[in-house]
Parts: sequence; C-alpha cells; structure tokens
Amino acid sequence: MLRLARVLAISSLSALCACSMLSGGDPGSEGARSDRSLERSGPVEVESDVDVRVSDLQRLEVSVQPINDFVFKIEGEGAFFLINTSEGSVLVDTGTSYAQNEEQMRAVEQYATGPIRKVIVTHFHGDHSGGLPRFKDRIDAGEIEFVGHHRYGYMAYIQQVLTPYFKRRYYPLYPTRVDLSPSPPEIFWDMRPSRPVYPGANYRFELGGVEFVVIAPENGGEGEDGLLVWLPKSRILFTGDLFGPLYPMFPNLYTIRGEKYRDPLDYIDALDLVLDLEPAVIAHSHFRVIQGEDYIRASVTRMRDAVQYMWDELVEGLNDGKTVWELMRDIQIPEQYAVSQGHGKVSWSVRATHDIVAGWYYYDTIANMYHVPVEAVHGDLVDLIEGGADALARRAREHLLSGRPLEALRLLDVAKGRETESVLRARIEVVEQLLEEARDTLDNYSEVGLLEADLRETREKLERR
Ligand SMILES: [Zn+2]
Repeated sequence: MLRLARVLAISSLSALCACSMLSGGDPGSEGARSDRSLERSGPVEVESDVDVRVSDLQRLEVSVQPINDFVFKIEGEGAFFLINTSEGSVLVDTGTSYAQNEEQMRAVEQYATGPIRKVIVTHFHGDHSGGLPRFKDRIDAGEIEFVGHHRYGYMAYIQQVLTPYFKRRYYPLYPTRVDLSPSPPEIFWDMRPSRPVYPGANYRFELGGVEFVVIAPENGGEGEDGLLVWLPKSRILFTGDLFGPLYPMFPNLYTIRGEKYRDPLDYIDALDLVLDLEPAVIAHSHFRVIQGEDYIRASVTRMRDAVQYMWDELVEGLNDGKTVWELMRDIQIPEQYAVSQGHGKVSWSVRATHDIVAGWYYYDTIANMYHVPVEAVHGDLVDLIEGGADALARRAREHLLSGRPLEALRLLDVAKGRETESVLRARIEVVEQLLEEARDTLDNYSEVGLLEADLRETREKLERR
C-alpha cells in the first residue's frame, strides 16, 4: 500500500521548497531561471562523505515525492520519475523487477494525469529496467516509445547470457537476495529500445508543452548505455546512475560484483556535459534529489576533479615506472577533492584504469602469459614448508601483529584448500581486522560485503571441523 503519510510529510518539507521556484517550469510560465542569482552566496560546502550507505537502498519504501507540480519521484529500491504533460506522461526509468514494483506502478496510476506515452530507461541495470516488461505489449504495438541508449541492447545482452555466472559473483554480496537456482531469462534484458539514442545526436521531443532532450554521453556513468534526460525550461536533469547510487561519490569505475570497466576520461566528459547544462535540480536516481545550482556546480566539479586527479597521478606514476600495485597503494585523493568511496573505490579505479589503457599483463612475470595460476603450486609450497600450514598460520599472525594484515592474508591464501584449525583461526582474526578497518574508514559496500562473506565461509569451515 502507498504510504500516504510519508508522501504528505515529504511534500511539506522545506528541503523541497524549490518546488515553488520550479513549479512554473515547463507547462506554463518561465519561473526557474530568474531565481538563479539568489543562490550565489558564499562558498558551497561539498560533503567528503555521505550519511547513507548502498545497503540502505534495500530498506527504501515506496512513496511519491513531488519535485515540482508535474514531476514526481516514485521512491523505492529502484526509484524512477513520472513527468506529466497535457498530452500524456513520460517515465524516466521503471524501477526494479521485485515485488515492490507493483506498488510503485500503482503510485504511477494514481499520479499520472494521462496515458504513459514514453518510457525512457537511463541504463540496463535491473533496478532501472526491471519494470519494463509491464509496457512490453504497448511498446510492441507502437503505443509507447521505449527510449534507450543505442548500447542498451549490447549491455543487456552481456548481462542476459552470463546470468548464471554473474549470479554466482553476486551471491557473496547479496546472500539473501540471489537465488542460485536456474531462472528464466529476464524480459527486460531481451527488449530493445524502439527509439535508440546515439552519442552526439540528442533526441529532442516536445509533449504537451514540455520540451525533453535525451542525451547519450559516450560511456557515461554506470554502464556504457547511460542516458541523461534534460528538461530545459525547468532545468531538471535526470541522471540515472551517472554518479552512482550515492551523491557525491567517487565513481565505481570497476564494480567488484562484475561489469565492464568504466572509462575515467569518458566519465569526466560526461560531468563536463552536466556542468555545461547548469542544472537547477539533479533528479538523481537513488536517495535524495539534488537541489541548488551552486551546490550542483560545486559537487559535480569536485567529483570530476577527483577522477581527473586520479588519472593525472596514474599517468605520471606509470610513466615513472611504478607498478599498478604501488599506484593502488599510493594514489590518494587530496582533501579538497575528497568524496565518498562508499561505492566506488579509488584504488580499484586505479587498477581498472590501468587495465582499460594497457590490459591485464603487468610485465611482472612471464608465467602470467599462461593458464596455470600461482595457486596451482600453493600445495607444493605447503608441503615443502617445515611445519606446513600451521607454520604459515604462525607467520601470518606475526604479520598481523606487526600491522601487515594484507601480507598475512596472502600467506593464508597459500594454505587454501589445506586449512588446519590454526589457519582458519588466523584467517578469522585477519579478516575481522580488515573488516573493522574497512568499516571505520571508507565503509565501502562491496569491500565490506566480500570481507563479511569470507568471514562467514571461514567460520562455517571451522564449525564443520
Ligand atoms: Zn541504480
């Protein structure tokens, strides 16, 4: 059921006072632009961390949050937007494929002032495309236009054909969500935009007095099929997951759960494109809608500069002969560009960026040109060590006590598959410490998730002994 109490409470919040400023936007008067100068007062503070976490998304309940008198955010784990015009409505994204989508679509029915005419999907991720199948028949019949980036099909295809593999990768991160049993193909990944949008060729249309510009950046944001939707009169920019789920955050140029790398230079270009538009509102897909031109300019600039800094340091470091591992350790974003690493992590992006420009061969050992991994000889090492795996566990503890938990972890990996009780106990100590550090510092969702999964697995092994 729709939580109407929350809807009313939210619509009266002062945080949404820009509603009045924007309410004259598209369908009628000129409103928005005249108020721009009011916001130019003093330096704008940009947060170096945020007070929400990616895991909070799963707890978001459905509600309807007005951005102005014709644009509504349909809140939920996969939030999306309804734009009403006098000739029908437009959706930007469709929410998740989970049960919550029913409730969200009932909210759409309640708030839409006309039939849905276009469904614009900002990218292929299931929390944005999951509700698409509801519109499939009307899209196929030509009654609704499905607008997507021309790479939507490509990205969706990869996700579709590799579903069993990706589910195994997601499982440690989402143990209560992922069902490893075989599942039928996802309909939303089989659908293709009836109106593909290409980089450099914006799709402009007008519906019931509202002007829309659909922009396809090159490899912008999460997935190379990221779209932006711009309402020029009210100056609202729908960004999907261009910035990622948090705001502001360092972009997730490599998702540990598994996805194509995202190019930092294309990300910078996409953010420059956002800055050029000078939005008054960023209708960001997850958590809060971002208001205020000065704050938007300052925060987008900061996210762009953080990535630019990483890139510049990487280029210099590689040219100077540093290894990828050294650069993962050494490149730290200075305070003036610091943003949350709760989803994207700088060190992972450093490695991803190296691999984008130069691939996976690090000129470290010619053995890496072949298919036998280093783990293939770990058993030999354990056999050759006097004291075997227990000696490794003892040395790992020494590393841990001397403040080298990562060296300890590497050593314990050598004993994988031949774990003794002391190896398992040492591993628990090491991972517990890494987990504590991870939570106390960046609190990165994927890092914490994988450490927790490892801890669960090791504790289970110990219990089974
Ligand atoms: Zn998303």
